[in-house]
Amino acid sequence: MKSDIELIDANGKRLDGRTNDQLRDVKIEAGVLHRADGSCYLEWGGNKVVVAVYGPREAIPRHTQDPLRAIVNARYNMAAFSVDDRKRPGPDRRSREISKVISEALEKVVLIDLYPRAAIDVNIEILDAEAGTRCAGLTAAGVALADAGIPMKDIPVGCAAGKIGAETKDGKVSGGHVVLDLGKEEDNFGDADLPIAISPRTDEILLLQMDGHLTVEEFNKAMELAMKGCHDVSKLQKDALINKYAADVEEVE
Ligand code: ADP
Repeated sequence: MKSDIELIDANGKRLDGRTNDQLRDVKIEAGVLHRADGSCYLEWGGNKVVVAVYGPREAIPRHTQDPLRAIVNARYNMAAFSVDDRKRPGPDRRSREISKVISEALEKVVLIDLYPRAAIDVNIEILDAEAGTRCAGLTAAGVALADAGIPMKDIPVGCAAGKIGAETKDGKVSGGHVVLDLGKEEDNFGDADLPIAISPRTDEILLLQMDGHLTVEEFNKAMELAMKGCHDVSKLQKDALINKYAADVEEVE
């Protein structure tokens, strides 16, 4: 689809001035909530996310318990005021889907075998949404789980890449640019979005979804960009945790 908006100019600059391999600004703060076992506040471009982790604690109701391992319940929720048109509060198909894929991604890194019959609740609240909220939510969840002291193989991190600026003529799609971390207009009027989450230590893929169409070459390029984005954001996750715990140690001293 050719949108009325020119998403990328002749010099390869995007609407917000970014180059094809540039992330939006990301800020992460660990341990922002006092009553949760672990928490994180994250800003990623115009996205604002807060995550609270509770557990591990006995899974209730009891029929949800697994005698061999803990269950990870991620609950992704978009606040009614997080988008331009007020969103109807409460779960919908999209938030159920995102909660499910994030829960499954987190279960791959949390050492769930250590906590039979337990539940680990991960509440992901999207306060401001501007595309890429599932990656932002999962990234904040990784920091909040670490802040809660929950044993994990690695701190999971998410990032997306996609394609913008292609033209459709006589049913054929041509051109387009593969870019990192789609912004709002790019997500709305772009051609494809490929959110992923990885374990950055091993590059194991924890989540991979795709919206739109990419050729094999475009897919490989998008994966390469998204992987690089994940590794860059992973450093910021670690910095956020070091900042929090370095401050705690200073206070004790
Ligand atoms: P993600 O946020 O992970 O990119 P989507 O691709 O489903 O997930 O959504 C892209 C963007 O569309 C969201 O970040 C948000 O800005 C907007 N959006 C999603 N759901 C709604 C909704 N119900 N009402 C208004 N805008 C929405």
